[in-house]
Amino acid sequence: MPLPRRLILATNNPHKIAEIRAIMHDLPIEIVDASTLDNPLDPEETAATLEENALIKARAFRKASGFWALADDSGLEIDALGGEPGVYSARFAGPGCSFADNNAKVLRLLDGVPEARRTARFRCVAALVMDDDQSHLSEGRVEGVITFEPKGRDGFGYDPIFFSPELGCTFAEATPEAKNDVSHRGRAFRAAATFLKSLSE
Ligand code: IMP
Repeated sequence: MPLPRRLILATNNPHKIAEIRAIMHDLPIEIVDASTLDNPLDPEETAATLEENALIKARAFRKASGFWALADDSGLEIDALGGEPGVYSARFAGPGCSFADNNAKVLRLLDGVPEARRTARFRCVAALVMDDDQSHLSEGRVEGVITFEPKGRDGFGYDPIFFSPELGCTFAEATPEAKNDVSHRGRAFRAAATFLKSLSE
């Protein structure tokens, strides 16, 4: 299947757009985002898995734009909370909650839990939807430890409370390049980029 000229990133999150553009900059394809659509699109993530939610988003953007679409769905799995918040990471502290509300809820639930039991991972599934609804999924994950307090100002979401042993700091203290090197999204989208490159060869 030949690569098309354009691909749309199926997300409205400017942090994600910047991260994904940096990862995919050397692909022989123009990458556009939701701002090219005439009407805003924010499909509801109604599925119970990252895979299905990523496909819901990619299919909606493919339909609205006519371009191949690439979406991701990510979540934080905290072992001491039985894998929560997982697929519900965005709205963990309730509808309309802020990133700070979510982080405060995690720290409250982990109150008294020692460092050795604060293990967690981010998982990201990237879904590419191509011609005739054909799809390709790639997954990335990164292991870490939930801190006792937020640290750092960069990034978004749970970055200030996610300590990466590989980086020696939280994701919010890391440069965007360092975070992309090890992050769930970096790994999932590098795999998606490798797949796209294989189509152009
Ligand atoms: P989404 O559904 O893929 O947009 O991700 C769900 C939620 O997971 C986001 O709202 C963030 O709270 C969290 N999340 C996803 N990726 C990251 C990340 O790279 N850093 C911090 N939090 C993230």
